[in-house]
Amino acid sequence: MQISANKVVSIHYTLKNDAGDVLDSSAGREPLAYLHGAGNIIPGLEKALEGRSSGDKLNVTVQPGEGYGERNDALIQDVPRSAFEGADEIQPGMQFHAQGPQGMFVVTVREVSDESVKVDGNHPLAGEVLHFDVEIAEVRDATAEEQEHGHVHGAGGHDH
Ligand code: ZN
Repeated sequence: MQISANKVVSIHYTLKNDAGDVLDSSAGREPLAYLHGAGNIIPGLEKALEGRSSGDKLNVTVQPGEGYGERNDALIQDVPRSAFEGADEIQPGMQFHAQGPQGMFVVTVREVSDESVKVDGNHPLAGEVLHFDVEIAEVRDATAEEQEHGHVHGAGGHDH
């Protein structure tokens, strides 16, 4: 069965950055299941999988524009230290959830001073060229309910 819109696709994958470091992998886990054509995964990977079949193996390079976006310096902001009242100790690299106009997002602490904390709202993989090794484990038709919800139910998907 070929991959097209409204198929549920299960993939094994390894994600590396440009330097060859492994950032994420499904090795030793269930394959990742997603609903094709619903924007569940980054556009560059979804596009590369279109028309492929179960058993196919492919290497996909995704530029930031089709991945997690370019880095945007406007998303780096100084926040008064008092905004972190609940947190005991704030250190560079720590991540916090923040409420924004489009819902919750994650900010990463870059620098800490006595008065302020520099936080970065860019996705951790923004600006990165991504390299995926993908093996397509399974392709099936999505159920009517999955199509309606825009995501996969059952193994590797939502459970609700
Ligand atoms: Zn659902």
